[in-house]
Amino acid sequence: MSSVRASQALLRGTSSSWCFEDSLTMAYSRFHLSCQHTSAKVVLIENLWIGTLKKLFIVGTLLYICFALVNDKRYQWKEPVVSSVHAKVKGVGEVKKEIMENGLKKVVWNVFDTADYTVPLQGNSFFVMTNFLKIEGQEQGLCPEYPTRGTLCSSDRGCKKGWMGPKSKGIQTGRCIEYKGKQKTCEVSAWCPVEAVEKAPEPALLGSAENFTVLIKNNIDFPRHNYTTRNILPDINVTCTFHKTQNPQCPIFRLGDIFQETGDNFSDVAIQGGIMGIEIYWDCNLDSWFHHCRPKYSFRRLDDKTAKESLYPGYNFRYAKYYKENNTEKRTLIKAFGIRFDILVFGTGGKFDIIQLIVYIGSNLSYFGLTLKYVSFVDEPHIRMVNQRLLGRSLQDAEGEEVPRPPMDFTDLSRLPLSLHEPPPIPGQPETIQLLSEGATPRSSDCPNWCQCGKCLPSQLPERQRCLEELCCRKKLGACITTSEPFKKLILSRHVLQFLLHYQEPLLVLDADSTNSQLRHCAYRCYTTWRFGSQDLADFAILPSCCRWRIRREFPKREGQYSGFKSPY
Ligand code: GDP
Ligand code: ZN
Ligand code: ZN
Repeated sequence: MSSVRASQALLRGTSSSWCFEDSLTMAYSRFHLSCQHTSAKVVLIENLWIGTLKKLFIVGTLLYICFALVNDKRYQWKEPVVSSVHAKVKGVGEVKKEIMENGLKKVVWNVFDTADYTVPLQGNSFFVMTNFLKIEGQEQGLCPEYPTRGTLCSSDRGCKKGWMGPKSKGIQTGRCIEYKGKQKTCEVSAWCPVEAVEKAPEPALLGSAENFTVLIKNNIDFPRHNYTTRNILPDINVTCTFHKTQNPQCPIFRLGDIFQETGDNFSDVAIQGGIMGIEIYWDCNLDSWFHHCRPKYSFRRLDDKTAKESLYPGYNFRYAKYYKENNTEKRTLIKAFGIRFDILVFGTGGKFDIIQLIVYIGSNLSYFGLTLKYVSFVDEPHIRMVNQRLLGRSLQDAEGEEVPRPPMDFTDLSRLPLSLHEPPPIPGQPETIQLLSEGATPRSSDCPNWCQCGKCLPSQLPERQRCLEELCCRKKLGACITTSEPFKKLILSRHVLQFLLHYQEPLLVLDADSTNSQLRHCAYRCYTTWRFGSQDLADFAILPSCCRWRIRREFPKREGQYSGFKSPY
């Protein structure tokens, strides 16, 4: 149990003492009320153990806050990367081809170069063909369908003129004709002969694509930090090949190596094709003293390699090459199997930012019983940060630290229904009160002396907290912010506020009882985000009295007192 030795401890000023307001002292001072002395008294409790524990707690918390500040770089403003990529595949492959010459089978080798096996795709992707099926000499005409369960027939009755199944290659003519030998199928109007249902060749025809290489060029940009860079540095060795540990910065990748990294076998994937993701991660520190901005490459198989044969495995598509022979249009149809490479670029760039640092420190001060408040005057370009403890009289007179105003983000504003044709007021609801125009505004009779705009009202709060609401929208005499166009269009518009509430909670039911409260609180938030920019500052921002009361007049509470600002922590 701590011993109360108030006077002694005060005199000695013991370092390991703990200050707090005690009810005993309150009673003590009440006893002395007759002397008209009403100041609260501080009692020092001498207890080494509690004192040390408290100090340890403070030091521990401080250490942790500093650790998080440095480790998570909370002093930085982080921006997502904007990038462009370009990939170039290089390599030559050979494909064995059997042809008939003078009744004899002959094997020839066809060379495939970049133009043959790569197909440009949209977005940050490229395709490398590894296997294919080819049907040569197709032309428009009538021919039997390839025999499957749905196309086999025994007479014309089994076929239907004009019918087209989801898997059919043409439009049925209604006749049942011979396909091969005794097999009969429905005749179709199509590119003839129709493509047979065939399995992809095994092993893959272009399995040598394993040795192809791809060069990836990636330019990145952090627009707000005004910093651009790229993955290929001028001093890079152009004959290098990427290796996770030995050459992690080389932008040239061997296709076989990419698959090895993800634990896949290239020759297996090459048969049916697949999708491979190449991830480029930029974690950039743009501060000059720790500057680092190099990419990290990693790979990820993106298609479902466990899918059963029947579930359309791999990756393939068809394309055709058209030509004219004896004045008839013909085509070569190619069903290409291969690997689609998707290049995904992500990451952030961080740079020291005073606002981030202040916000971080400010939000942590509450652990030490200190809370920061932010105020903004319409006639000052910056924001002011005020420590509550420093507060002597009204918030209006507190000096505070000057903090730059965060840059405005207009992206959200464009979503607001800030149209000029606002719906007409609903009958029965009070219409917006016409405000006085800019310029000298007459001071109302109960306008407090700290007010500079003539529209503020005294606070309703109990005496001790009153100074928190003694704040005007201006530092020097002039027009009130509540007379401005954005204040009327944004903060006082029932239409906009209702939209914002629904934007946050689409199915929110605004019942008559709570509507005004919700709209009022939304208007407060709308004002703070408008004037303070960053959401972190907005939570600790104090509304000027004129705005607070203008909002309350628009969306009043039926009875009782308004509770005012509550600290979010
Ligand atoms: P109530 O509706 O009767 O509770 O009273 P108010 O109209 O004063 O609204 C109280 C709510 O608005 C609380 O959640 C407060 O935190 C918030 N609020 C009131 N004043 C301020 C302010 O100056 N700044 C901020 N950021 N929030 C405020
Ligand atoms: Zn004022
Ligand atoms: Zn004002």
